[in-house]
Amino acid sequence: MLKQMLKSNVVDGIERSMGHLSDPRVLSSIRVQSTIRQSLRESLVRRGFLEISPTMLSPLTDPLNHPVYDPYITAYGEKLWLTKSMIFHKQIAVQQLGKIFIMSPNIRLETEDKLSSGRHLFEFTQIDLEALETTREEMICLAEEIINEALERVAAVNSAELEFLKRKVKPFRRPFDAITYLDAREKFGDDFESKLSQQSESPVWIVDIPIEAREFYDREYPDRPGILRDMDLIWPEGFQEALSGGEREFQYDRILERIRRKNQTEEQFRWFTELARKGIRMSSGFGIGIERFTRFVCGLEHVMLTNPFPKVPGVVSL
Ligand code: ASP
Ligand code: MG
Repeated sequence: MLKQMLKSNVVDGIERSMGHLSDPRVLSSIRVQSTIRQSLRESLVRRGFLEISPTMLSPLTDPLNHPVYDPYITAYGEKLWLTKSMIFHKQIAVQQLGKIFIMSPNIRLETEDKLSSGRHLFEFTQIDLEALETTREEMICLAEEIINEALERVAAVNSAELEFLKRKVKPFRRPFDAITYLDAREKFGDDFESKLSQQSESPVWIVDIPIEAREFYDREYPDRPGILRDMDLIWPEGFQEALSGGEREFQYDRILERIRRKNQTEEQFRWFTELARKGIRMSSGFGIGIERFTRFVCGLEHVMLTNPFPKVPGVVSL
């Protein structure tokens, strides 16, 4: 099915791209996505968050915790990476601005095997947000509120699209369920994210992620070595990851220690560590993938159906 979709809709030049753009599922999901974007934006602005410009090229970007191809351009004699996420930029900007968000285009050149996952695009948008001196628990509460507000808005605005897609949408009962990473793995095995998602009818938080499963920037519990004060949210019905986030390491010596544990170098993150050495305040945040949110709401087989010009791993297209 996916191969056929790719063949008939995307890979074969402009005519195929126009075919994708006239697929009624794509047209419906784009309308739904527009509502989701507007609702999330308004929910954040109403709570005092400032929207800032995206950064797309920088000497500093998210190292991620899984292998991707790593594109950069050379400009003015320096390497500038394409943004994988604005994690450091938001941690820096929030020091002055207090509460921020970005509709952030991210480039993550995932390996070709991700083609069939149904949920990877190598170019996507996340609403990436950060707030100063907030806890993970406050971020969890904020995420539940803004997700539910978006679901309520879609239900009110997009009834025609939902009817066509045969989807029912309503806010979920709060608080959402939560399970620790280690409990989830014990209960469902290594494939716990997928299993947990498949057997759930509401979103589920996975909290307290072990240090090796995350990037160096999420904060370790001061009194529980090896466990982080962070979280993922899993969409129900098998749609898997909705968002990632957590509290951040902010103490210089802790940051250096965490970088070393990943066998990364301070030099790689110099633009950030130099500021941390002078002192930064604690912050927390998360990033919600807009296309994955849309895919879940619309109940679509592949996230490519949520983007007019989808970039599927391993496939070059318009
Ligand atoms: N924006 C981060 C990411 O892309 C998520 C976070 O805020 O931790 O991984
Ligand atoms: Mg991350």
